Amino acid sequence: MVAELQRVEEGVVVTRQSGFYTVWLTSGSLVEAVLRGKVRKAGPVLTGDRVRVRVGADGSAVVEEVLPRTTWLARPPVANVSCLVAVAAAPEPDLFLLDRLLVLGEASRLACVVCINKIDLATPEQVAQWRRLYEQAGYPVAATSGRTGDGVADLARLLVSHVSTLSGPSGVGKSSLINALYPEARLEVGELSPKLGRGRHTTRQVQLLPLPAGGLLADTPGFSRLELEGIAPQQLDRLMPDIRRAAESCEFGDSCMHRGEEGCALPQAVEEGAVAASRFRHYRRLLEEVLEQEARKYS
Ligand code: GDP
Ligand code: ZN
Repeated sequence: MVAELQRVEEGVVVTRQSGFYTVWLTSGSLVEAVLRGKVRKAGPVLTGDRVRVRVGADGSAVVEEVLPRTTWLARPPVANVSCLVAVAAAPEPDLFLLDRLLVLGEASRLACVVCINKIDLATPEQVAQWRRLYEQAGYPVAATSGRTGDGVADLARLLVSHVSTLSGPSGVGKSSLINALYPEARLEVGELSPKLGRGRHTTRQVQLLPLPAGGLLADTPGFSRLELEGIAPQQLDRLMPDIRRAAESCEFGDSCMHRGEEGCALPQAVEEGAVAASRFRHYRRLLEEVLEQEARKYS
């Protein structure tokens, strides 16, 4: 009889705390689950893991299965992250750092979104220029102000159906954006779950916040990769969509690193406005770094 009242649902682990796993079910509710023995033995279950949960009539829940993991980020420690929001801030966004983050996001095969925050500190013309720059480069762009709330709904729309993390240097307003995207973000671990009280006094764990419009957002900003390690010089052009597109018509083909040699397609693309000068400059700077890194590896 009881068995008939049970149901099996899929969901995502949004946080975990000493043996208890808070799962955001596809149906839109939260349950707190324990692991079935066989699941526990198979290895750690992580925040972000997609799971199949058996929910009893009394609300008790057991994780029966962990579905295959696509990615795992070390910082914040979350599985299945699919989207990186690279944040820079007006009035002087660090566009080199932004381009670097985008390259790293591409290298980790994440969907990348550009967020220019603190637009209350810039003119509409400046904002339009940054937007054009990155839309032309091939990225969805949100121009936001965590302070006034401007553009936050646009950013939220870009995160629907993703598990996202915000990344960018300290002070660009990542925490403010998380609070604007998810007004209850200041909740302590445990308060997100239907059973209150647990975990208050233990170390704070990363949580995935179910955004009102859909999608999950890590409440801890970060990104595990900051170094260009593992990126080969010949690969770099493929990690910048606008450079990649222009490089396709370079007659030197794969043997060219597109540093602006005579006859290379890149300088021409910059001249024609197909690639922004800053993007090409940053490509070359990153290329130098990657080349130095290679040289060190073989010296
Ligand atoms: P984080 O280090 O990236 O998490 O940045 P915070 O969210 O802590 O914000 C850093 C500082 O920038 C704080 O003093 C915020 O009040 C301020 N700040 C954040 N967002 C905005 C914004 O949209 N406009 C303005 N003017 N200030 C902001
Ligand atoms: Zn070339």
